[in-house]
Amino acid sequence: MPGESATVGEEEYLQILFWLQEAGLPMTGANVARAMQLSAPTVHEMIGRLERDGYITRGQSRAIAFTEDGAQEAETIVRRHRLIERFLTDVLGVPWDEVHEEAERLEHAMSPVLEERMLAAIGDAKTCPHGHPIVAGARESGVPLADVQPGATVRILRFENEAEDLLRYLKGAGLEPGLEGTVVASDRREVAVQAAGGPRCAVTPSVAETVSVVADPSPPSRTALPEQLVLGQQRYGR
Ligand SMILES: [Zn+2]
Repeated sequence: MPGESATVGEEEYLQILFWLQEAGLPMTGANVARAMQLSAPTVHEMIGRLERDGYITRGQSRAIAFTEDGAQEAETIVRRHRLIERFLTDVLGVPWDEVHEEAERLEHAMSPVLEERMLAAIGDAKTCPHGHPIVAGARESGVPLADVQPGATVRILRFENEAEDLLRYLKGAGLEPGLEGTVVASDRREVAVQAAGGPRCAVTPSVAETVSVVADPSPPSRTALPEQLVLGQQRYGR
């Protein structure tokens, strides 16, 4: 990797840009601001720095694209984040609603040697505990749980938003990636999944927007809104 390595702040932004790209959302400053819940001027400044440091380019329509260095840097930080989360849950026994913030801190300090050892320690796990692929490009496509009609069977793929308060709420509701069940309610008050041989898991419709599932029968696929992805906080719950 040529030149200086990215700062912690730059890595955070590259990570968010990667999440947007992965979710099929346009990589724009506005979407970054929404996903990070930061002001436009703050984001604008950092986007400028990423461009000067050679991680991104900006087209006429303000659309952001990764340079080769930027793509590599973004992939690395996202991979490490997800790997650390999986290591914390599977090897250290940390509950999955508590690992995101820890990974945020550790991901910036990780050496390639430690990464290799952690990878060996997690065995054949392919995703973070919230369902996101550790290796880029391995993302299975899904639909928002909020779109699924009652009566359909579902398998929970992943939680698109990893805000800690939201993960805690999902855990409390009994949902987790891999869980299979039947949608038994979907209205303005709640979306509920009856787990096969398990509990009835109910969440608010706004939370159900952030849960990706494979469904049968499946509603048409659609792209989620940037506010409903990534690390946004506050808007969820009661
Ligand atoms: Zn995760």
